[in-house]
Amino acid sequence: MIKKVRGLLIGRMQPVHKGHIEIIKKTLESVDEIIIGVGSAQLSHTIKDPFTAGERIMMLNQSLVEAGIDNGRFYIIPMEDINMNSIWVAHVSSLTPPFTKVYSGNPLVQRLFYEKGYEVYAPPLFNREQLSGTEVRERMINGEDWESLLPNATVEIINEIDGLNRIRQLSKKEVSER
Ligand code: NAD
Repeated sequence: MIKKVRGLLIGRMQPVHKGHIEIIKKTLESVDEIIIGVGSAQLSHTIKDPFTAGERIMMLNQSLVEAGIDNGRFYIIPMEDINMNSIWVAHVSSLTPPFTKVYSGNPLVQRLFYEKGYEVYAPPLFNREQLSGTEVRERMINGEDWESLLPNATVEIINEIDGLNRIRQLSKKEVSER
C-alpha cells in the first residue's frame, strides 16, 4: 500500500484571506493531503479574533471549494490553545490524522515542531503587506476596501453572519451612562 504524504498548516485565519488559499494550493503541490488547523479555536468576539472556530471552518471550506480544490484532499480541524508550549505539538497531533510535514511562517510554530522531529517548511508569503489578517481587520474597522483581499466565499459568509458590524461594534469604546 502506498502511504499518503500529509502536511499540516495551522493558522488563526481571522479571517481567511487570499494568502491562506494561495499557500494551501501551493502546499498541495508537494503533499497528497493537507490538514488545516484552525488555531486559537476557543477565541471569538474580540477585535483580534472576531470569528468563531465554526465560522472560520465555514470560510475555509467554502473558499477552498470555490478555488476548485478537491474536498477529498483537505481536513479542517479546530484546535484550542493550551498554556504549555512544550506539549502543544503532542496536543495538536492528538487531534489530527498522521502527518510528517509542517508548513508555517510562524517562528514559534516552526521551532516547536522542529524540536519534535517534524520536517518544517517556511512557505513563501504572497503580498504580505496587504494579505494579512491584521490588515483585513483594520480595513473592516476603518471602512476601507477589505473585500478584495478575501475569497468571495469568505466575503459572503462575513456578510451572512453580520461580521462587519460585529467587528466595528467590538472596536468601539464603551460609553458609560451617567
Ligand atoms: P496566521 O493566520 O497568521 O497564519 C497562518 C499561516 O498562513 C502562517 O503560517 C503563514 O505562513 C500563512 N500566511 C499568512 N499570510 C500569508 C500570505 N500573505 N501569504 C502566504 N502565506 C500566508 O496564524 P498563526 O499566528 O501562524 O497561527 C498559529 C496558531 O497556533 C495560533 O492560533 C496560535 O495560538 C497557535 N499556537 C498555540 C500554541 C499553544 O497553544 N501553546 C503554541 C504555538 C502556536
